[in-house]
Amino acid sequence: MKSDVFKQIIGHKSILNFLRQSIMADKISHCYVFAGLKSVGKKTVAKHFIQSVVCEKGDQAPCNSCVNCRNFVKDIYPDFYQIDLLEGKKNISIEQIRKAISEFEQSSFSGGYKIALINNAHLLSLSASNALLKTLEEPSGKSLIILITEYLTKLPVTIKSRSQIVNFNLVGEEDILEQFLKSGIDKDLASEIAAISQGRPGAAIKYIKNRRLLNSHKQTVNELLDLFNCSINERFAYFEKKFAVKKTFQEKIFLAEEILDKLLFLSRDLLLVRSCGLPCISYDFVIDKIKELGKEYSQLKFIEFIDCINKAKNYLRSNANPLLVMENLVLSM
Ligand SMILES: [Zn+2]
Repeated sequence: MKSDVFKQIIGHKSILNFLRQSIMADKISHCYVFAGLKSVGKKTVAKHFIQSVVCEKGDQAPCNSCVNCRNFVKDIYPDFYQIDLLEGKKNISIEQIRKAISEFEQSSFSGGYKIALINNAHLLSLSASNALLKTLEEPSGKSLIILITEYLTKLPVTIKSRSQIVNFNLVGEEDILEQFLKSGIDKDLASEIAAISQGRPGAAIKYIKNRRLLNSHKQTVNELLDLFNCSINERFAYFEKKFAVKKTFQEKIFLAEEILDKLLFLSRDLLLVRSCGLPCISYDFVIDKIKELGKEYSQLKFIEFIDCINKAKNYLRSNANPLLVMENLVLSM
């Protein structure tokens, strides 16, 4: 396997073109919001864009050989700040934002852009959002802020209205497969991972790098499928055990989100097999179980269940207790 599979951006061609053009035309916005599902490629594209901006060659794509490029790749570029949720915290705090703003107000080490990347921007506290807003209202010369979020609707309108919103769609399964085959990955493995990762290159690369994660993902899908034939008490016990090992509220939220995504794709597969027997499903490795279960339930049942999963996702976004959200959901299985 060639290592360039991990460096190449998979999909998002129109976004990359748009960003390249803004660099070439010297029309870089002060603030961008990169929005889209987890592992779809927002952070990878953001870093590629930032490196293109700081690259001394000033070309459309980073040269990877100038001092700025090398420093950026090594994570020691002096005018770049990353902000993320600190371990054990529910929100990104005003102190974190203030610290970045004070860095922003000092002159640039490199003489170029001062750049900040805020991951999980939907978790900015209200006061942190307000502090950030002040900076956006009075942007200094060469500053670039990129906010990354899975939940665009949770960002304050005042921030969104001052930002260039870039929406990331799921990448085509064939794009992921093509890149994997080019990198010399075995065809069967590449096909399986391209399907399982459901249009999210970050997830696909994670599974290629770490087969234990792939196996654990497949095991969880199997367990979730088995839950359909379990009693309510067994379903509750399953989730209580799963959530007991997660310490913080945020870890529990991430776990619930992952399970809901799996259930969503599983239900879609069940619906596809039930309604038209289509072979193009995400979880081909459990096709026999899916066919069996498909015989026992009506299409309407799966449509209603998908609706319940989407409602559960909304409850999570409103900070409801993740375990209770899951227990409430499995009543509708
Ligand atoms: Zn360069």
